[in-house]
Amino acid sequence: MNGYEMNYDVIVCGGGTSGFSAAIQAARGGASVLLIEKTGCLGGQLTVSGPPGFAYARLFNCFGQQDSKGIIEETHQRLYREGHALPHYRPKHRVGAAYTFSYIDPEWWILMAFDMCEEEGVTLLLDALVTGAVMDGNRICGVVVEDCGGRHEIHGKVVIDCTGEGYVASYAGCEMSMSPIDVLEPHTICFTADGVDWDKLLRYVNRHPDQFNYNQLLNPNAPITLEEIMQAYEKAIDPMELGELMGFNDLREMALQNGDWHPYSGAGFFLMPKEGGKVLAHFQHSSQWDKTSPYDAWAMSRCHIECRKQIRIAWRFFKNYVPGFEHAYIVKMGTELRIREGAMIVGDYVLTGEDIGNTCRFEDSIGLSSFPAGAFHTTNVNTLNAIGKNNGSETKRFPKGSYEIPYRVLVPKDVDNLLAAGKCVSTDRNGHMRFVAQTFVTGQAAGAAAALAVKKGCTPREIETCVGELQEILKTSGAVVFAKDLK
Ligand SMILES: Cc1cc2nc3c(=O)[nH]c(=O)nc-3n(C[C@H](O)[C@H](O)[C@H](O)COP(=O)(O)OP(=O)(O)OC[C@H]3O[C@@H](n4cnc5c(N)ncnc54)[C@H](O)[C@@H]3O)c2cc1C
Repeated sequence: MNGYEMNYDVIVCGGGTSGFSAAIQAARGGASVLLIEKTGCLGGQLTVSGPPGFAYARLFNCFGQQDSKGIIEETHQRLYREGHALPHYRPKHRVGAAYTFSYIDPEWWILMAFDMCEEEGVTLLLDALVTGAVMDGNRICGVVVEDCGGRHEIHGKVVIDCTGEGYVASYAGCEMSMSPIDVLEPHTICFTADGVDWDKLLRYVNRHPDQFNYNQLLNPNAPITLEEIMQAYEKAIDPMELGELMGFNDLREMALQNGDWHPYSGAGFFLMPKEGGKVLAHFQHSSQWDKTSPYDAWAMSRCHIECRKQIRIAWRFFKNYVPGFEHAYIVKMGTELRIREGAMIVGDYVLTGEDIGNTCRFEDSIGLSSFPAGAFHTTNVNTLNAIGKNNGSETKRFPKGSYEIPYRVLVPKDVDNLLAAGKCVSTDRNGHMRFVAQTFVTGQAAGAAAALAVKKGCTPREIETCVGELQEILKTSGAVVFAKDLK
């Protein structure tokens, strides 16, 4: 390709939250960085196929200590200063469950991400699909890319797989693990609505707090009862106090009996604040389809078709059954599937649900999380079957505070010069690290490790023997690396 640079220190594949963080941190570490993304946009499931209703969540553990900092906190502050984020929202009924919200506006996040890539000198290659790995024995030395210019190779000293589904690692021949298709979590197409009469809906919520599901807000380590949570919903005077409304149990049951609901997902949505006090309703649990491998485009196509049929059904339900939706209208529908579960690399360490339940500590920690183990979505009207069961084996779900994430989950066990970050890092099913905050933490660490490996002229695996240097870089970059450093 004439005129374009085809050799980089670090190639980051996938421009979601993990890829964005990895690219920014690697560039700050002095590496020349190429970020390749198959869509024309940055943010992945945070922006293109999302957002999560509240965008950033769970930045604080159940003791109210902030455990996810570094680039995620930097972007929250930056958007807050620009008027596109709200202060961290930590009401009592959320803190105990470590389920706090830190609202950011996903559309403005996109603009900020493009600015930051430019500021840090990250080269972007958009609308380009990575379709293969260039290998020299068990060492990756580049990727094969297909874009409107054709098919070409781009070379890099370290490649970071941030594709969410571990596509690059699988092309490189890494050992991967994926749940059997019959139990794989369903994928979703999200949509967003405006025009809700929030006062009317709030009156319904205040009178019927028993109609909603609160299992995500209950945590055995938190001093809060179901009654107290319901009281918060009963007394709420601003819809933003609720954050999410999941259930509408009697209405949904009535609709099911009338043939006006479908059996594949629950009814519910998240509240999405916009400028000037405006609030949108964002749906990510009202359409979903299971038994779909993210490695099978034909199955994914069926998933697209079925999820869109379910959006029609869901919308008819909200308009006809739910108070406040009479004049509401859809303003945005995802063009990409939101994929909950796919393949993960098998790394030098496999983080397990049991580790999380035991609030694990590691000498090679690169960051923290307090997201519980074993939260699975299923295709039924309860949607979130968060019971910590994995094909019959139960796990202790809730960490006591924050647990540490070891560097080795980013390092695939059988390929050199490759790192993974985001959803596809090495865990068992109960330990799946798919929450947005976790993808920032692993992305930033992978970026720092890649730049350090380039600087030292070693492989990312060899960084395991001098991980203290990596930890120092992360601390200087604002991350919280060890639980003992929590304030
Ligand atoms: C329905 C649903 C609801 C969720 N709700 C929440 C929530 O409420 N809170 C929360 O914190 N998390 C939530 N999550 C999880 C979270 O949003 C995602 O796990 C997270 O955003 C994933 O980040 P990532 O960077 O690992 O991957 P992604 O965001 O998936 O980014 C991967 C990027 O790689 C690109 N890509 C893929 N393959 C290629 C390729 N071959 N070549 C080039 N580019 C490629 C993609 O286009 C994408 O931009 C939810 C997930 C789903 C599915």
